[in-house]
Amino acid sequence: MPSRTPAFSENAQMTTASLDFPASASAAPSTRRWPLLEQSYATLGSDFSLPVAVSPLPDPVLVASSAEAAALVGLTPPRTADEEHDWALAFGGHVEAVSGNSRATVYAGHQFGNWAGQLGDGRALLLGDWADADGGQHSGGYPSWEVQFKGSGLTPFSRMGDGWAVLRSSIREFLCSEAMAALGVPTTRALCLVGSSRRVRRERMETAAMVTRLSPSFVRFGHFEHFSYSGQTAQLLQLTDWVIARYCPECAAAAQPALALLQWVVARTARLIARWQAVGFIHGVMNTDNMSILGWTIDYGPFAFLDAYDPLHTPNTTDRGGRYAYGRQPAIAHWNLLALGQALLPLIDKPEHALEAVDTFRPQYVQAMQQQLAAKLGLEQLQHDDGDLFQDLLDVMAVNRSDWTLTFRLLAQLCADPQADIPAPLAAQFARDPARFSTWVMRYRARLHAEPRDDAARMQAMHAVNPAIVLRHHLAQAAIARAEDGDFSEVRQLLDALRRPFDAHALPAHYTAPPKDDAPPARLSCSS
Ligand code: AMP
Ligand code: MG
Repeated sequence: MPSRTPAFSENAQMTTASLDFPASASAAPSTRRWPLLEQSYATLGSDFSLPVAVSPLPDPVLVASSAEAAALVGLTPPRTADEEHDWALAFGGHVEAVSGNSRATVYAGHQFGNWAGQLGDGRALLLGDWADADGGQHSGGYPSWEVQFKGSGLTPFSRMGDGWAVLRSSIREFLCSEAMAALGVPTTRALCLVGSSRRVRRERMETAAMVTRLSPSFVRFGHFEHFSYSGQTAQLLQLTDWVIARYCPECAAAAQPALALLQWVVARTARLIARWQAVGFIHGVMNTDNMSILGWTIDYGPFAFLDAYDPLHTPNTTDRGGRYAYGRQPAIAHWNLLALGQALLPLIDKPEHALEAVDTFRPQYVQAMQQQLAAKLGLEQLQHDDGDLFQDLLDVMAVNRSDWTLTFRLLAQLCADPQADIPAPLAAQFARDPARFSTWVMRYRARLHAEPRDDAARMQAMHAVNPAIVLRHHLAQAAIARAEDGDFSEVRQLLDALRRPFDAHALPAHYTAPPKDDAPPARLSCSS
């Protein structure tokens, strides 16, 4: 298929002159054949999505690609400069086979607790479906991956936005998607990241980029809210049937399929939030339009991983009241599920049934979170008073502002012997109130006596669930700063480290250390 060279060269002339941007290896059009994308979502009709052409990026250059994400859809990551150029063209929007069927979907949502009305893909476009390379094994049982561009230009749903995504935020989404997947957190994936010479105005002038995302589905709670709250009950039913048939066919056999779908989403969301809390991930913008119907992480904006533990921390400067702070995420997920339940009411016999389904979130979340914390502390089986042990640790960590990731990693070094010293690096995480930590350690050691595993086996198990590296803000910032100067090597190196987060031996020491005391805190706005 020919690439869209006219738009490419036209834009390139307009924008390359004043920018210090690394040129693509060659300007030749791609000769590579890409698998053709077919659109399943399009079959729902024009009430659900509209055809919108991709606006190709001028001077596309491949910043990075993910070998693991490529393998999901049977692609081999690019190895030569020519192959990288082919990828930059394809995933910069220049290849008809890839972007020729692009559509924008309509959804709605509650933003910061308020009904925001109709929204939609404002800068993302759904390209179509690619088959899972392993017949659904990679995707959790779903046959195909939907492919999206994020940052591909204006759509009918762009509202005040310009349809572009900047390099800075695209690097964050690309790296975090792949980091979360490696941590075992359900998430949309990022196939690759393409930069461009296109200039984009934010708080300062920046350049545009595009992430190619993969997910079995990009349907959000907000898609259901849109049809429900605008009185389009037939379309609500159509969407519900479509989602059930594709993603949870077992719900179709239930007496009330929409209620079964709600229960399915509640269970998956409870497991997701427990995983977020366990790895210290703060999403930052848990609006209902950013909640995936699969219970997967979606839409990486002003997110962060915890450094010093503070349950009220949010990196999102737009969120003045801390609605989406780390410690509030479970309650907000519950609130969002209520909004979904309400949206599904026209399809459910009695409102009480929906409410009961949503209210199972809390016990399901608590159970999932207790299992997460038990694993993080190396406990094989939960005992009835372990909840107090966990809560006390969290309280001591909050008082000491202990680093979330490092503390759990170091706790693995604590042996069960009640007489043994606390290793110095671990003790250093509790310098503000060491006595309170010592008291907790005594309890934990007493609890370890009920565990069948010895110290070495427990350490190994704890190292397999407590990552040595997460995408800390300062690490992302360092990679972004270099990339904005045209050097993508740090993005690629950091990705390489994030692919194996539990393997400390393979990591350079500066990747595992918390930020220095004088490092600027993770503070981000929604403008990206
Ligand atoms: P977000 O807070 O990123 O989830 O975005 C909320 C809504 O605004 C979504 O419908 C986005 O598609 C849209 N949006 C965000 N940024 C832009 C942009 N630069 N151009 C167009 N639409 C945008
Ligand atoms: Mg969003």
